[in-house]
Parts: sequence; C-alpha cells; structure tokens
Amino acid sequence: PQAAPESPALTESGTPSSRDSAAVLSEARRRRSFAVISHPDAGKSTLTEALALHAKAIREAGRADGKAGGKRTVSDWMDMEQARGISITSASLQFTYRDAVINLVDTPGHADFSEDTYRVLSAVDAAVMLVDAAKGLEVQTMKLFAVCKHRGIPLITVINKWDRPGKDALELMDEIQERTGLVPTPLTWPVGVGGDFRGVLDRRTGEYTRFTRTAGGTTIAPEEHMGPEAALEREGDAWTTAVEEAELLEASGADHDLDSFLGGETTPVLFGSAVQNFGVHALLDVLVDVAPSPTPRETVTGDTRPVDAPFSAFVFKMQAGMDTAHRDRLAFARICSGVFERGMVVTSTRTGRPFATKYAQQVFGRERTVVDEAFPGDVVGLVNAANLRVGDTLYLDKPVEYPALPTFAPEHFAVMRAKDVSRYKQFQRGVMQLGAEGVVQVLRSDLRGDQAPVLAAVGPMQFEVAEHRMATEFNAPVTLDRLPYEIALRTTQEWVSTLDAQLGVEVLQREDGELLALFPDRWRVTSVRNRLPDAVLEPLVAT
Ligand code: GDP
Repeated sequence: PQAAPESPALTESGTPSSRDSAAVLSEARRRRSFAVISHPDAGKSTLTEALALHAKAIREAGRADGKAGGKRTVSDWMDMEQARGISITSASLQFTYRDAVINLVDTPGHADFSEDTYRVLSAVDAAVMLVDAAKGLEVQTMKLFAVCKHRGIPLITVINKWDRPGKDALELMDEIQERTGLVPTPLTWPVGVGGDFRGVLDRRTGEYTRFTRTAGGTTIAPEEHMGPEAALEREGDAWTTAVEEAELLEASGADHDLDSFLGGETTPVLFGSAVQNFGVHALLDVLVDVAPSPTPRETVTGDTRPVDAPFSAFVFKMQAGMDTAHRDRLAFARICSGVFERGMVVTSTRTGRPFATKYAQQVFGRERTVVDEAFPGDVVGLVNAANLRVGDTLYLDKPVEYPALPTFAPEHFAVMRAKDVSRYKQFQRGVMQLGAEGVVQVLRSDLRGDQAPVLAAVGPMQFEVAEHRMATEFNAPVTLDRLPYEIALRTTQEWVSTLDAQLGVEVLQREDGELLALFPDRWRVTSVRNRLPDAVLEPLVAT
C-alpha cells in the first residue's frame, strides 16, 4: 500500500483532507469486511475467538475481557445485557492479518436473532457460512443464506467441528449444492473422517497440512506442511482416501474460480475445527486472497459512488439503552466512500441536519475503542445518535443517498396496548418512533384500531426491546399479547375482505403500505390457496 501523503491534499470536492484519493483507494483495497452466517451452536463465537487469536488481536482465546482465567468469550456479553432487560447488539471486530485489515461484523443470533441480523448483511462485502459437520445446513443458516443470495454477497463455506463424528464430506458437498444452488469448490479436503481429523489436503497445491492439537485449543495449533509422499507415509489410508475424493471433485469440475465465486455461483469450502483452532489460518488466507474489498456502492439514483469520493456511510444498526439514564443511542455506520475522521461534521441525507462525530467508537463486545480515522469497509459507532435511523445516509460535502435497507418477512406477531390508556399520546409517539427506527414493523387494520397495533418481528427479542423502550423512554408501559401467526404473505386490496373472512387468517397493513395476510402455519396457507386459487398471496422477499 502507498504511504499517506505528508501534506494535506484536496479531495474531489476541493475540501482539504489529510488523505488523498490514492491513499483512500489503497486503504479500501486492504479491507475485507465480512459476517459469519450460521445456526446457533455451529461455533460462531468459537470461530470469532479463533480468528482474533490468529490475527493476534487477542492473546488467548476465550479471554477477550483481559481477566485472567475468564471464560467468557467476547460475543457472550450479549446475555448479560439481556439479563438487564436491555437490547444491545454488538458491532464489529477489526484486526489485521498479513497486510489486510479485516472487519468481522457480528450477526446477532440465538435469542437475539432479529431484523438486525439480516441488516448486518448490507454492511459486508462477503460472508462465511459456518456449518456444523454433523448437522449440515440448518434453518437459521438457510434464512441468512437467502438474504446473502438476494444481495449477491459472495459466500465462503466452512465445515466446522470436523474433530467430531459427523456427515460424510462428499455428502455435505451434495447437500450444499442441492439446498443453496451454489457449486461447492473445496479448497481444502479433510484427511481423516469426522472425529479423526488429522489435517487437510490443499487441493490447489496437493500438499498436506497436518495439525497438532493443543491443550483445549487455547493457543494457535501448530501446522506441519509436507508433500504427498511424506503425507502418505504419515497418514496411510486416510491420505489415500483424501486424494481419491479430491480426484472425484476434480472430475466433477468443483474447482475454485474467482469470477463464479464473486458472481455468487460457487462457494469455496474449507474444513476445520474452530475449537481446536484447526483450519482457521486457511480461512484468514482465503479471506485475504479471494474475498472482495469494498466496491463503489449504488445510490438511489442508480449511479455508484466511487470508493475515493468524499466521505459517505449508511447506518445499518441502532443500539439503544447502553446507558438508559442518558438515553444514549449508538448508530453503527458502514463507511462506503472516503475517509472518516473523528470530529468531522457530517450531514444526514434524510433530515438534512448536521451530525458531529466527536465520539466515534469501534465497539465489539464490551470493548470500545475510540476511532480517529476509518476507511471504506470499516464500521464506526456514532454516539449521541438519537436523531439517526437505520438506513440513514451520512455524507461530507457531496450529497448522496443510499437505498433504504430492506424489511424482511416477519414470523412473530403481537398486539401492543398501553397499560394506562390516558398515556395515549406517549403511546402513539413511541409506536411511531419504534416503527421508524426499524425496531419492529408496525401493522394496523381498521378492525384493531389505533389503540392496538400489531407488532411484527423476525425474532421475538425485538418485542422485548420495544416493550422496554416504551416504558423507559416514552413513559408508556405496554402489554404485549402474542398472536398465533407465523407466516406473512403479501396480498392486494381486492383480496382483503375475502381473506379476512377465512378462518384463522387476518390482513393488516404495514407502514410501507404493504398488505400482509397473516397465517398460523403453512397448512392454513395451503388450504386457503386451494379454496381461493386466484388469491394474490406472494412471499415477502427482501425488497
Ligand atoms: P455459536 O452459538 O455459533 O456462537 O456457537 P459456540 O461458538 O458457542 O459453540 C457452540 C458449542 O460448540 C460450544 O460448546 C463449543 O465449544 C462447541 N464447538 C465450537 N466449535 C467446535 C468444534 O470445532 N469442535 C467441537 N467439537 N466443538 C465445537
């Protein structure tokens, strides 16, 4: 990369900046921003720790908080915040590896799975699909995969937990191809079946990387590299089997190809064991070698904004209640162009108002560090961001607007009512604000009236957040009653009354105008479709 110029240069718009466009471009080229998509328990937290360990951002896995003997992992802090009844979602972990700056943007999972989890995917340039070798592709992974596919995010697959008995490697490749439509192109192939993980065959070089176990996997697993002959001598049949299977893959054309990977047609596959720190090194190398760096982002006008244009970013996540006393609000923004310098005053496109970035931070888990400078691909946390919203564009000098973030098909529904009806105004103000911020989706119908809107969410934790904020922030405590619906399909005005008349079905209008027909389960969907074959009932794909 080029060194930064010593004297201030002029940006495209003529504003002095300490970085010229060549420096911004070279910083952007070093960036790799990605998220891990997986089902709970596949090993995301463990992998995150292992990645950070390899990148030397954290000394010892599982001790990110710096406390000797502490078992809590960085990503685990979430549970503590939840115990306090506050929603906090973490943000991104940044570390350097080789010459690259890697941003791992956290995708909340488990009980905190929510619309935020999906939105994070608009802030990354690539994703790692982490698969439990024994379980294969699970529900949550498939949901997140659908969003990646829709957005055209290139996907690297990691088969985890190979140290334990699991599915057959070739069988897993078939499963990936059948369920995702992506052609798996393994870069490494395991030597030793699941539960007897000895190392991997590098399909590009034919070499063998042998792993050595370390106590509890808390330190980097030493790797030994050797040629095929030494590997055969060392591993015997396990090596021969791996070579034979690798030949089968070659014959079926499952070789990595950069263009088809970037085009979302193929997915490079690696085998590993996060808990043993096996294969983590290989993942970092693949991220650096094949994952894309930030590219010009499309704006609402259909143009793209070059990476070296003046600063611009968009807010993909709001975090409330870090400090309820101060109504602290943190906005997480992904930088799309230019250089971010702390203290810069930027403009929000939606409101046209200035926003001072005096206290920009980088947040991961409980660690907060002050950010002085950041580049395209990076994520910054902006403090005191009460006036910002999810989807907002921020810019310096040269106005721009990035497309609104999509909403997603909700699967959880609840009616919200004010506990104290005299607080009607506060109640309405809260409902409006939570809807506008994207905390929950707000649905209404004439039947239910304004006093009892229906909240819709991707994950139930969104309700907890809404309930908490209504009480603490809007002074309007509420009750929430869950509704027995699980599926929302888009319909049109002419079908509203007919569908409403179907047993167990209800039509409501979302704030964006979309009419949603709610069903308790897919059997009801099928029976209504049979009865009303012409009814408009379409899946709500991410828009
Ligand atoms: P997350 O829910 O995806 O964040 O999963 P965690 O990282 O918390 O891991 C879930 C469980 O799987 C924990 O008990 C881990 O120790 C275990 N685990 C994670 N990776 C591996 C692995 O590679 N091998 C084995 N045997 N266990 C693993």
